[in-house]
Amino acid sequence: MTASSHRTLTFVNWRLQPNRDDDAAPTTYSFRCLTLNDDDTECAEKSALSTDPTEPQLWVFAHLRTHPDHLSYAEVIERPWVMRTEGPA
Ligand SMILES: [Zn+2]
Repeated sequence: MTASSHRTLTFVNWRLQPNRDDDAAPTTYSFRCLTLNDDDTECAEKSALSTDPTEPQLWVFAHLRTHPDHLSYAEVIERPWVMRTEGPA
């Protein structure tokens, strides 16, 4: 008796796209302070994540009140994406 194996290979095209499914993770926004400390390390304090893009902006004003020389920030946006097949290649 001989051993045999059989494989079927299917090539598919993939597409990367924003995930807008109901169960997809929400898009979140935050801000991070980019100001460099005296030792050239980044302050790196950051706001809480929010699904409201304007809410983290309020954190920037609060951070500036306690750190008047921290003027440089980055907005960090996390948007879910998903890979989907488009059928055979
Ligand atoms: Zn800072």
